[in-house]
Amino acid sequence: MGVNQIGDRVAQTEGEARERLAAIVEQMGKAAGRFGVLSLPPRLVAVSKTFEADAIRPFLRAGQRVFGENRVGESKEKWPGLRGEFPEVELHLIGPLQTNKVRDAVATFDVIQTVDRDRLAEALRAEMDRTGRELPVFVQVNIGAEEQKSGIAPSEAVKFVERCRVQHGLQVQGLMCIPPDGAPPGPYFAQMVDLGRRAEVPELSMGMSGDFPTAIELGATLVRVGSALFGQRA
Ligand SMILES: *Cc1c(COP(=O)(O)O)cnc(C)c1O
Repeated sequence: MGVNQIGDRVAQTEGEARERLAAIVEQMGKAAGRFGVLSLPPRLVAVSKTFEADAIRPFLRAGQRVFGENRVGESKEKWPGLRGEFPEVELHLIGPLQTNKVRDAVATFDVIQTVDRDRLAEALRAEMDRTGRELPVFVQVNIGAEEQKSGIAPSEAVKFVERCRVQHGLQVQGLMCIPPDGAPPGPYFAQMVDLGRRAEVPELSMGMSGDFPTAIELGATLVRVGSALFGQRA
């Protein structure tokens, strides 16, 4: 459990959601101060996976607009209705994407954070050409080189970003990672900073409820926070 764990209760009211958001944003600001001058101030992606529309709505009412989800099917059910109520929502896909779900993903999301192979990059290019809907993407890096995790190998990441841009014509906005469980994340975040510089991307999506201040201190521009806002997932 992360230091920001607030228990298993969902926020019932807009006021409660506002308090939780303010607490996270305050910690983000302090961490950003420790990092120093940022080209982009860090932004909060509220990770609402597994939570129903009723648990998400207080956060929308409290002003949060950027959300992350890890499943295409779940998002396709939940978000069109919420977008009808709050049209300025920006929805990020932060979970693995299979090529047969690319059509739904491009229709449902505004940013795809998990591009990690050429076949997927090609499928996204084709779908964006077909629909005329151009989505910025992040390249997911398997920063701990873990067998079971998705993401491009760190040693391949810079070349892959280049192929995404030149060969697949994707607008690569940054790199994204999930560091290994149970190890201090700092060294992995530092490796991401180095890869991001070499790949010449403006953004880094790293840091979750348990470690987002560390990620920001090292240079994250997007943090993905779920349980510290919404409560413990079932
Ligand atoms: C679930 C998830 C998060 C949020 O995790 P918390 O620990 O609940 O903040 C962030 N990133 C990804 C990719 C996730 O799947």
